[in-house]
This record gives sequence, C-alpha cells and structure tokens, in this order.
Amino acid sequence: MNCWIGTDEAGKGDYFGGIVIAGVLVDEKSLPALRELGVRDSKKLSDNQIKRISKGIYDACLCSVVEIGIEKYNDLYSKMKNLNHLLAWGHARAIENLLSQQECPLAIADKFGDVSYIENALMKKGKQIKLLQKVRGEEDIAVAAASILAKNKFIENIEKLSAKYNMELPRGASLVDVAARAFIQKYGFQGLGMAAKLHFKTTNALPKEPLTTPDTPVPQSASQPSDKPQDKAQNLQSAGPNTKSVFPPSKQPPVPQPIQQGLEKLWAPWRSEYVKTTAHKSNSCIFCDNKLYIIIQGDKAFAVLNTFPYNAGHIMVTPVRHVANIEELSPAELSEVFTMVQKCVSKIKDKLKPDGFNIGINVGKVGGAGVEGHLHIHIVPRWNGDTNFMPIVANTKVVSQSLEETYNLLKE
Ligand SMILES: [Zn+2]
Repeated sequence: MNCWIGTDEAGKGDYFGGIVIAGVLVDEKSLPALRELGVRDSKKLSDNQIKRISKGIYDACLCSVVEIGIEKYNDLYSKMKNLNHLLAWGHARAIENLLSQQECPLAIADKFGDVSYIENALMKKGKQIKLLQKVRGEEDIAVAAASILAKNKFIENIEKLSAKYNMELPRGASLVDVAARAFIQKYGFQGLGMAAKLHFKTTNALPKEPLTTPDTPVPQSASQPSDKPQDKAQNLQSAGPNTKSVFPPSKQPPVPQPIQQGLEKLWAPWRSEYVKTTAHKSNSCIFCDNKLYIIIQGDKAFAVLNTFPYNAGHIMVTPVRHVANIEELSPAELSEVFTMVQKCVSKIKDKLKPDGFNIGINVGKVGGAGVEGHLHIHIVPRWNGDTNFMPIVANTKVVSQSLEETYNLLKE
C-alpha cells in the first residue's frame, strides 16, 4: 500500500457533546513522520499527547475533520433513529473531502456497523474507492491518526461547550448524571439538548424540570455578558486545515433559552431547615442572642458565620446595636461595619479562594431579610460553577460539617 485513508470517530460514547469524524490520508511521504510522532490508538494517549501529536499529523498529512454539533446530532438522531447512518455519513464525508484533493485507492475505518452503511453514503467520487472496515482498526496507523484528530477535536468541543454553559461537562457516559441534573437546573430540561445526547438512557432518569428555588434569595450579581447559547452558527461545521464539508441544510429545532445567564441564583436546599424553624420568627434576635460562630467581634460591629449559608463561607456583618435600618447607623458604626466587611472579604479571599462575591443587604421582608429587626450585610463567596454540583451533593449535614471547618479556617 502506498496510499490509503484511515477514518475514525470520537464522541459516540460520550453523553455530552456531539461527535467528530476524522480522516487522514497516509502515503509513502507522510508515513515516516507519523511513526516518528508516535501515532497510536488514541485510547492509549493522554489529552496532552493527543494535542501535541494532532499538530504533527496536520503538518504531515492531508486531513479532514467533520463535526456534528450536539444540537445537530440530536436533530439528526431523532430523524434517523440509527447512529450507524449518522456515523457512516460522517465517515463518507471525511473520505470524500480527502479524495477531492488526492486520488487514493483504499479507505480503512474502524468497524462500527455494516460496510454498506459507508458505501451507501459515498457519492459518485467515492464509489471507486475500496472500503475496508476493520475490527481494532486503530492498529492501522492511518486509522490511529484519524482517531487522534477526532478525539482532539472532540475534547476541544467539550471544553468550548463547558465554557459556553459555564459548567464543567464531563466526558464519557457513566458519571454524567450529576452534571446533567445541574444542567437542567440552569437551563431547564428543554435546554438539555444543547449539550447532551438525548437518546442515551441517562436522559430517562432525569427530572423534567428544574427544582424550585426556596425563598429569600441573595442579591443577584449583575449578569455577565451573554455567552450566546443562541448563537447557532457553529452548530454543524467542518474544520481541519485542508477541507470543508457542508451537511445538507435541515430545519433547526427551536432553541431553548437558558433560564438565566451569568452567575446563577444559588440553590440552597438546606436552608429549608431555617425556613421551617420558628426560632427566627420569635421575639429573640439571632444577632443579639446567639453568639455562635462569631468570626470577628468589634466594639460596634461583629462578623458571624451564617449557620444556614447560601454557600460555604457565607458571613454576615452586623452592628452590635439592634437597629433595623441603615440610616439609623452612626458614622462610627457605619465605619466599623464596612471596615469589617472589607476584612471578611480579604480573609475569605485568602482562605477560601473564591472567584467572586455577592455582598448585599436585604431590608424588610419584601427585601428578603430573614432577620428583619437587625440590620446585617451578607457576604457570600462564589465559585465558578458553584451552582453545578452543590444542589445535588450538598445537604444540611454536609453543610453543617463544613460550617465547623469554615469557622476554624476563618477564625484563625
Ligand atoms: Zn438584634
């Protein structure tokens, strides 16, 4: 063999993200370079190796990468109901993209179904090529190179998708349930098709709508610039330095909008304990009567850990005097309260390394104040993606344990 094409795909077993099919044309000229690069089955390579070797493959060979974005994937799957047809279409496009640039007698693909799937998907130009589907196709260096390119592009796409929806989307299919639930929490069940392969069994076990948010929300941060989940221009594209392919146009499904953009509301189910208890509704004042978890005690102000936190490290700074309104504070009290806020923020930054904060005051019941009579400033540290897993994994017990830890850390 002095010239052959290898094709392979990535992403078909991953719940999140679409799929990528790559083709690499190998000939006498490029073969030594591929051997030099250490091209082998992408499953045996680390992400970094994949990235590095991909660059070398692009330099050495004629390559074609066909991407089917996740939304397009769901759309096509719902019509075709057969993954093999979808894959065959991708393999056929990769092969034809290469054939349009160089004649080649043979193409080898990893075996995923009957060879006729690809044959049927090949157009006129591709009909002359001999097709081979091999079990353990990656043993062929051209197929291995294609598997590396496909995997590399798939990893890039998952990273882009994660950035777009501001949460880390895991690869694979076994440990995706938590992330899928968090995604639904942010974008609704309708939005799941923007990130995940809906026909996977995982989807059936997921809640069909976000869980409701309990009352007294913390003040919301200003929305960050939109990350444009509605920008569908890149839905289906072909990349790779050498070739282009265009899927026949088909109708786009309606695009569900995310429930919110930027930093999301924190969902803190353990706070329901607080909402249910009547202690805070009695005449006693939690700031005047309860001296638990005080981080800093000053003359006119003190900082206390919230025992029903919205997030780890949730601190409240309050004047010592029992006053309800900000305009009742004396200049000395104002100064001490805000100096203490400053101290807390820098302490939290130092010890807990958050990515941002919500800092605010709720005044009066309609303002969301849990303790109406005694003015207090909330300081809630925020981490990128802190709404992802907390709603699922955190519960009262976990938080009360971390409360002790947080207290010791900040008190230090
Ligand atoms: Zn009080």
